[in-house]
Amino acid sequence: MTRALRRNLAIAVVCLAVLVLLPAVSSASHQWGNYHWARTANPFTVKLGDNLSSNWDPYLATTSSDWSASSVLNTTIVSGSTRPRQCRATLGRVEVCNTKYGNNGWLGIASIWANGDHITQGTVKLNDTYFNTSTYNTPAWRNLVTCQEVGHTFGLDHQDENFNNPPLGTCMDYTSDPTPNQHPNAHDYDELEAIYAHLDSTNTAFSTLAPSGMNEVSLDGPGQWGHVVSISADGHQSVHELDFGGGFKIITHVTWVIDVRPYFNSRHIDIR
Ligand SMILES: [Zn+2]
Ligand SMILES: [Zn+2]
Repeated sequence: MTRALRRNLAIAVVCLAVLVLLPAVSSASHQWGNYHWARTANPFTVKLGDNLSSNWDPYLATTSSDWSASSVLNTTIVSGSTRPRQCRATLGRVEVCNTKYGNNGWLGIASIWANGDHITQGTVKLNDTYFNTSTYNTPAWRNLVTCQEVGHTFGLDHQDENFNNPPLGTCMDYTSDPTPNQHPNAHDYDELEAIYAHLDSTNTAFSTLAPSGMNEVSLDGPGQWGHVVSISADGHQSVHELDFGGGFKIITHVTWVIDVRPYFNSRHIDIR
């Protein structure tokens, strides 16, 4: 073996090692893009607007106290300011809504309004059409989906999207067995600390340049969610983006019900 060949081989081995290491590094993080709430100090407070019927209130209370255990953020429940069906967003808040949104395939959705990387407002919708059925009408499913959708509005993604591997013990894990996954785990709190390690010069970063109509858009179904950004391997989770230009976007995270095939598995859709 010549010296040059040996050197090339050594470089190849180093590259291979880097390639092997990279996926491990990226999977350790489960931030949803770079989206985060702008704030000038930690801990900051996210108001959760309660547009829920009373049977959901204990689950929102659990989710609120679960996430408030984070060292970087607190949540408080405030009275809601929208009708559940429309679930319109309110600046600087997350409106949480429930109603029978219909037999549309989704169990819960979380949407965030972004100005660049900064979240300005969010909504969470919980679909009673499915939560009223025997499969999903359980405390475990209600805790899992409430916790996960609210978690998305802080900028968190799933820790894991493999539907069939052992549960990770966090609501940010997608699973067919919700029982061990009703609350955040230590890794979620670590991730929040990483997302919110820096401070911003303003709070909530509202811009008067936000396109008019961005607040009025109804997010009931795929037709209003914009293009598909990603779909989990099993097709049960998807992320959509509605781009208003100038860095203004609405990003919607969808949890599909497990017992129907998501709509986009059977139709052509523009995935990018
Ligand atoms: Zn920031
Ligand atoms: Zn999700």
